[in-house]
Amino acid sequence: MNDTRRQSLPNQKSQAAYRDACKVIPGGVNSPVRAFGAVGGNPVFISKAKGPVLTDLDGNDYVDYVCSWGALILGHADERVVAAVSKAVSKGSSFGAPTELESRLAELIVQAVPAMDMIRMVNSGTEATMSAIRLARAATGRSLVLKCHGCYHGHVDYLLTAAGSGATTFGVPSSPGVPESVTRSTVLVPFNDLSAAHSAFQQHGSEIACMIVEPIAGNMGCIPPADGYLAGLRRLCDQHQALLIFDEVITGFRLAYGAVQKLYNVRPDLTCLGKIIGGGLPVGAYGGRRDIMRQVSPLGPVYQAGTLSGNPLAMAAGLVTLEALAEEVVYDRLDSAAARLADGLGDAARDAAVPVQIGRAGSMWSVFFTDQPVTDYASALSCNTTRYAAFFQAMLSRGIYLPPSQFESAFVSAAHADEHIERTITAARQAFAAAAKADI
Ligand code: PMP
Repeated sequence: MNDTRRQSLPNQKSQAAYRDACKVIPGGVNSPVRAFGAVGGNPVFISKAKGPVLTDLDGNDYVDYVCSWGALILGHADERVVAAVSKAVSKGSSFGAPTELESRLAELIVQAVPAMDMIRMVNSGTEATMSAIRLARAATGRSLVLKCHGCYHGHVDYLLTAAGSGATTFGVPSSPGVPESVTRSTVLVPFNDLSAAHSAFQQHGSEIACMIVEPIAGNMGCIPPADGYLAGLRRLCDQHQALLIFDEVITGFRLAYGAVQKLYNVRPDLTCLGKIIGGGLPVGAYGGRRDIMRQVSPLGPVYQAGTLSGNPLAMAAGLVTLEALAEEVVYDRLDSAAARLADGLGDAARDAAVPVQIGRAGSMWSVFFTDQPVTDYASALSCNTTRYAAFFQAMLSRGIYLPPSQFESAFVSAAHADEHIERTITAARQAFAAAAKADI
């Protein structure tokens, strides 16, 4: 690493904590990207956080743009969330029986997302997509799932697929432990490519239960949909009597109050949510057309359950978060803060003569190290990840915490103020220079 300031940050406590963690947890982390595998070095261990700032075990502060992978739109330890969760826990942490909190959060979401007539709470985004697809298969009596290269929908076996060769392919397992027989039920197409989706439907239309897509891709970096792409998918699904599932685990309540589908004026049959609706506690949800949701157990035959689903602490955190977001001014502020940041980063990169593309949709954003437009997984993969790693480390050493991978979206929260944005742009001026030297 050319940049030397990283070494000057004290990190002995994080290093020791990492060594201890590695003895009992694979790779020392409970979710792989946290391990810094894509950017080098060892993860910093967090002791606390407040607003937009993370503090590590050694006492270093970082302006945080991961925001718990998009969940913390209000920032860390928001006082309203802390108070709501504290109040809820004082009354009991889990009952395994229904509470009014669950129906209140469900009502708020159903009112805000017109395509959701009914909703079922689960504990993670993975559970949401897995359950929505089971329901889509049951409702259509078909088995194939159409999915885009580079979109991530959780670690469900048949969604852990890499593409074979060719524009439209059956999935091959991207993890040992996933049998090929399972991924053969997944058909992959490039994101933002309507003609590839058209071909897939022509080839397999009568067997396709559903197409699942992130309406704005967040898991290959932030890539907005091309004009007409989502509406085109809607038409194709209708023509072939397949269901359209929007995975809004990231985008739900991120760009607007409700789901991003309303910004694009496209109505999916089912929607998956997570992250923001749990206010930083573990929550996922799926929902959609009443006639389909009525098939979920115990109303219908499609089984899906969860010991901690609708957990009162998580419902309380989600409720107070959505209430805070209901003031529309939050989204205007988020959008303008992210726009200022994106402009500042673009200028800093230009001044350092480092070609980048800034992907942005509202408060989701990414810096791609390439001079080519990034519109799909293939173009994202062509980015210079060596430069991203150097940029990441140089930013970290200057107190800015970015996603530890080129292929993850970053987020601005409502707690990021002008001073944090300015500090980030100043740090980026030096970090881009470090990135430029990384692959020489
Ligand atoms: N869908 C999308 C779009 C996601 O970004 C993620 C996780 N980042 C998931 C599903 C899976 O959610 P979880 O990690 O809560 O299982």
